Amino acid sequence: MTTTHTPSGTDFLDVSEIAVETTADIAARLERSPLLLEARGLDVTYVTEDGEVPACRDIDLQLRRGEILGIAGESASGKSTLLNALSRLQRPPAVTSAGQVMLHPVDGGEVDLTALSEEQLRRYRWDSLSIVMQSAMASLNPVMRLDTQFIDVIMEHDRDMSKAAARTRAGELLEMVGIPAARLRSYSYQLSGGMQQRALIALSLASNPDLVFMDEPTTAVDVVMQRQILTQILQLQATLGFAIVFVTHDLSLLLEISDRIAIMYGGRIVEIGMPEQLYANGQHPYTRGLRASFPPLSEPVRRLRGIPGTPPDLLNLPTGCAYHPRCPLAIDLCRTERPELRPAAGGLAACHRAGETEESAPRTDPTDPEETA
Ligand code: ATP
Ligand code: MG
Repeated sequence: MTTTHTPSGTDFLDVSEIAVETTADIAARLERSPLLLEARGLDVTYVTEDGEVPACRDIDLQLRRGEILGIAGESASGKSTLLNALSRLQRPPAVTSAGQVMLHPVDGGEVDLTALSEEQLRRYRWDSLSIVMQSAMASLNPVMRLDTQFIDVIMEHDRDMSKAAARTRAGELLEMVGIPAARLRSYSYQLSGGMQQRALIALSLASNPDLVFMDEPTTAVDVVMQRQILTQILQLQATLGFAIVFVTHDLSLLLEISDRIAIMYGGRIVEIGMPEQLYANGQHPYTRGLRASFPPLSEPVRRLRGIPGTPPDLLNLPTGCAYHPRCPLAIDLCRTERPELRPAAGGLAACHRAGETEESAPRTDPTDPEETA
């Protein structure tokens, strides 16, 4: 289902059992696939004593069944805020101040998740949507055995199931992520970090969801474990067909696993496109900066280049394009007028200089000695 997009051809994930797709294949598959979730003009605001923090603005997204959508951006760009708003895990002081999150359940129709009560949401939680957060420790209860936690979730979802059947199902779920069913008797604190994270992934799949939200699901584990877990996620996804919204600051990782990628900056999506296009021909200078900050694991080790400057203060956003103070290509227009997302190189980019960058402007930061050497 998913391909690796590293142009060097060196797969960093072992997805050999998963069919490799070209960009055209992915586009055709997404085109055929029905809509699953949509954000329409979504704004999320943190209402704080210091003021209203505009953490997400004007988010328009469409996710199709079976799609892996990556969301990348530096720290504080609004990735988790967006994921929480989409999954309705959002808690005060965050409020959805505008827009809708439409779910298209398989039985037809559409539901605006932002308009549902907690009680109504329960129907969709687990059933349609589930969530894997960064820290398994925070999500699994350390003083409960795994079986208790799994059986609770399974029986909550399927009230007719017997406890014995739920236990069997729990064992199957654990085995699906490579953990022996016998570990059901363990407390989560008795498991290694990687195992906890895999147990959490198994739990998120307990009720065969249509969509799994993953917020940095592997950052708490080492690189080797990270690869194993990602491979497992991709294999499960290819088998079970759920869609994934995958949040990380690591663009290179997303280039390997995603069907499409949205890049966030200062609470807005500044570019969205397919991995190969963003890798080779990112239209927003921020996208190119991010890519240079996280070289693919399959490339030889070289000096990492962060993006010069710091992310914007959301309470005091720069005028025009929020990226302009850090952008090597900024012109006067960028300081005065915020660019809207518009078609560029097969995707969408919110950059006044998108489109011209290929012909006339340097593709990378011209002030970087490594690039100009
Ligand atoms: P990271 O990569 O560090 O996880 P992120 O992209 O997920 O970052 P968010 O956590 O969504 O970023 O935060 C976006 C913005 O919202 C940040 O400026 C952050 O300071 C602000 N923010 C987050 N939580 C709160 C809160 N509870 N109250 C006020 N502001 C908040
Ligand atoms: Mg986050």
